[in-house]
Amino acid sequence: MSFARVAIIGLGLIGGSIGLALRERLPDIATTGWDADPETRRRAAERGLAGTICETAGEAVAGAQCVILCVPVGAMQDAAAAIADALPPGAVVSDVGSSKTGIAQTLSALLPQARIVPAHPVAGTERSGPDAGFAELFSHRWCILTPQEGADAAAVRDLSALWTGLGAKVEIMEAGHHDRVLAVTSHIPHLIAFTIVGTASDLEEVTQGEVIKYSAGGFRDFTRIAASDPTMWRDVFLSNRAAVLEMLGRFTEDLTALQRAIRDGDGDTLFDLFERTRTIRRQVIEQGQDDGRPDFGRKDH
Ligand code: NAP
Repeated sequence: MSFARVAIIGLGLIGGSIGLALRERLPDIATTGWDADPETRRRAAERGLAGTICETAGEAVAGAQCVILCVPVGAMQDAAAAIADALPPGAVVSDVGSSKTGIAQTLSALLPQARIVPAHPVAGTERSGPDAGFAELFSHRWCILTPQEGADAAAVRDLSALWTGLGAKVEIMEAGHHDRVLAVTSHIPHLIAFTIVGTASDLEEVTQGEVIKYSAGGFRDFTRIAASDPTMWRDVFLSNRAAVLEMLGRFTEDLTALQRAIRDGDGDTLFDLFERTRTIRRQVIEQGQDDGRPDFGRKDH
């Protein structure tokens, strides 16, 4: 492993999980951490999210060969500015943001001395903050690296090795392609969950508590996704606007077609689609991306 010291900026779910996974899986790497919020720094020190929790961003990155920015997408610029003066020349700077177009340019402009390799671990939960992280978060999950053309090959190789060491499977992708893929697999599903939970809550007046009472009928699974961090998701939709709008257009057309099938009593169209989607669920389980047990392996209650 080429990195002797890794600095983590932002100590919430993802930053904290990186710190814990490093401690457990790659204990020879020294870790430093910093978060803008003093209360988060205090809690991070208690949980040991990094070997040393620093009081300033500069202190955290001094002497680091690799710095990972684990802040909301809209805060990447501020986080990069905070480390700019103390960042050692040649350090690998990466991030974990959920949308990737433009991040390499933003970081290169603020950190000309760095070797930039953006990344996105496709792993997470609906929880956030310094208590949310756990060491196994990245185990068997994909981490997508989106280096710009001409990026330093050694930096890409070393960051790939780091993520593999944390238990992830690494894929390299062009940033714009990443954003279109994730718009379909993550951003639109979250948008649908936010919408349906919002609509149901507006209907509560009519249904008088029955939405919550009978939530196991499917609604409950949407509420988990819709409980995700508001800051993070606001920033994802604002930063991945083009791809989300493109995919939302497709989704709306498909929804209209289903609406027509229901109105026309066209059962074949409905059945064919549901059969196809059931196969996709099977593939997700076969590829180890979810728990195949009934009810997602939730305990009986
Ligand atoms: P999180 O739990 O809210 O952690 C982010 C932390 O960064 C918070 O402690 C926040 O403090 C801090 N912060 C905000 N602005 C900062 C700044 N300028 N400098 C230093 N610290 C700052 O969020 P997360 O879920 O770990 O998400 C972090 C990044 O990972 C986001 O870019 C997100 O898109 C990406 N990501 C998330 C998931 C997921 O499922 N959650 C999955 C993959 C990637 P305050 O709370 O005080 O603002």
